Amino acid sequence: MSEIKNIAVLTSGGDAPGMNAAIRAVVRAGIYHGLNVFGVKRGYDGLVKGDIVPMDAKSVANIIQRGGTILKTARSEEFKTYEGRKQAYENIKRFGIDALVVIGGDGTFTGASKFIEEFDVPIIGLPGTIDNDLAGTDFTIGYDTAINTVVDAVDKIRDTAESHDRLFVIEVMGRDSGLIAIRSGISTGAEAVLIPELEVDYNAIMKRLDQTRKNKSSRIIIVAEGDDEGGLVVADKIKENFPHYDVRVSILGHIQRGGKPTCMDRVLASRLGVAAVEGLLAGRKGEMAGLICGDVQFTPFGKAIKHIDKINTNLTRIVEILSL
Ligand code: ATP
Repeated sequence: MSEIKNIAVLTSGGDAPGMNAAIRAVVRAGIYHGLNVFGVKRGYDGLVKGDIVPMDAKSVANIIQRGGTILKTARSEEFKTYEGRKQAYENIKRFGIDALVVIGGDGTFTGASKFIEEFDVPIIGLPGTIDNDLAGTDFTIGYDTAINTVVDAVDKIRDTAESHDRLFVIEVMGRDSGLIAIRSGISTGAEAVLIPELEVDYNAIMKRLDQTRKNKSSRIIIVAEGDDEGGLVVADKIKENFPHYDVRVSILGHIQRGGKPTCMDRVLASRLGVAAVEGLLAGRKGEMAGLICGDVQFTPFGKAIKHIDKINTNLTRIVEILSL
């Protein structure tokens, strides 16, 4: 028989579309299983400050389709200290909370691991980040929505690029990961994709741009923000090599974080939210619930945060082959 009667859910790190669907799933699955559920405001900051509110089925009504997170999110420096985490522990005891579900990325899981180590609080994590940079899940909550937002924006830029015979360098999010860049690059027919995981071979890119000139009037180069150079520098290099090209830069920025989650993100968040609650009730802790080949699986935090190199070089080859 599980000792868990009261659980709390929080969202932490950068926001991602689908976090609301995940909160809803945790709250409703908790209620379904007879638990009391609390929401923590602004991630670990709310734990440290005791900003914790009771949640019921109604408090998560009509949010599955909304971007952002109704619980809000923040980066907490205090939680990085032992004193901050102790304060957080005292608060969860004060509210009678037995276990936590944390929705976030690698930093969130690193913090959760320390909290478990020091205070033995059962915690299950859900992968909530647009970057898809966690091991232990094929996709993170928010990634599908973010890449579809990028695809929509790039398609629009392609229209104007084509009309004016322009080359656009488009910078997308991904400080440490090129996964947003690579998938959106394939699906928008980009001529090149530059990502932090792979060294840029400018000679090859310039050669390709030159060779394919007769087939194209517009060009799209997608650059992940974490690439050493960034979109503006890449554009300058292209202008140096091809002064006759009409080169423009577009930095997509925060639109990539917002918007209605896609069906895929809503289903992913719903499945993982239920799994998190049932995992806690089954005695699990210190693990992230993820989806691997269609099945829910649990991965220890230590392994999930190890950003295994998810860049499949077959995907980068596809960009090259299809950019003729
Ligand atoms: P994203 O991938 O969107 O950036 P994230 O979860 O990696 O999400 P971070 O800002 O890195 O986002 O981490 C979220 C919070 O987790 C931090 O604000 C901090 O409170 C906590 N955290 C991160 N690293 C540590 C750490 N080493 N020790 C304790 N807590 C940490």
